[in-house]
Amino acid sequence: MVLWQHTAARAQREARSVAEAARKHLCAIEHTHKHVAVVFLGAPGVGKGTYASLAARLLGLRHVVMGDILRRHAPEAASTGELLADEDVTRLLHADLEREARSVVLDGFPRTLRQAKLLNTPPFDVAVPVAVLLTLDETALVAKCLGRRVCQACGESCNVADVRLDDSAGMPRVELPALAPPQRCSASDDTSASTTPATPHARLYPDAEAGSAASFLQRFDTTCDLHARADDTDEAVIRRRLAIFEAQGQPVQEYYGEQGALTQFDITHGIPETTLPLMSTISEALGAASQRVLAGATSRL
Ligand SMILES: [Zn+2]
Repeated sequence: MVLWQHTAARAQREARSVAEAARKHLCAIEHTHKHVAVVFLGAPGVGKGTYASLAARLLGLRHVVMGDILRRHAPEAASTGELLADEDVTRLLHADLEREARSVVLDGFPRTLRQAKLLNTPPFDVAVPVAVLLTLDETALVAKCLGRRVCQACGESCNVADVRLDDSAGMPRVELPALAPPQRCSASDDTSASTTPATPHARLYPDAEAGSAASFLQRFDTTCDLHARADDTDEAVIRRRLAIFEAQGQPVQEYYGEQGALTQFDITHGIPETTLPLMSTISEALGAASQRVLAGATSRL
């Protein structure tokens, strides 16, 4: 095995042992609460879904994606973007948790302060020992949104943006390499899949030459049908989406801050470098929460 494989294997082993410690903290909390949710917060494009799924797998928890629940149980609202009342959304989520009463990693909920408050008060009463707020430099965030490509057949995604920002004015150095697409599309056998060739976005950030996106994707010779999503192609639209998240997300973050549950994690590198420190952060936060429960300092998380 070459050196980087050794290093990667060790990081994976360490992440697993950190996750094991986190599980023990979680057990202490599960004794006093029927439903426990580790909440992931973060702006669109920050990689929330990816990291929530990764954490769920390592922690042995179910990854509950609010968007999926809405698509399943309120398809009209999900497709038209019509807003459901906070009570209705919370009820749908709670019904899902009741079906399989165990701890979950929650992704895409709560979006509003009202939802956050409803979640951990009766009749819902879901404990949130940790709310992980993923943050990423805004320049990098916009670049990663512009670089996202999603397969129209299987839903897998990749990212053509290779983002490297030097540290400046107290901001850490950012190195977020492009993400390769899967080689074989899992929906390859589906003949109904579109065969329209991808129209790669010409713009890469920072200052990569036009056409790099196409040459990046060509390198992988993937069978996936990769396209930029319509709302990912316009920088103004992306910035507007971020502003909405800021306005809505701030009160949610403040709420979890007051509860002692908010844990901010700044993403500066790719998934391999991020997994271990992220899991350590979650484990420490769960440890602190379990101490609060054991000390009886809070009847409710
Ligand atoms: Zn595919």
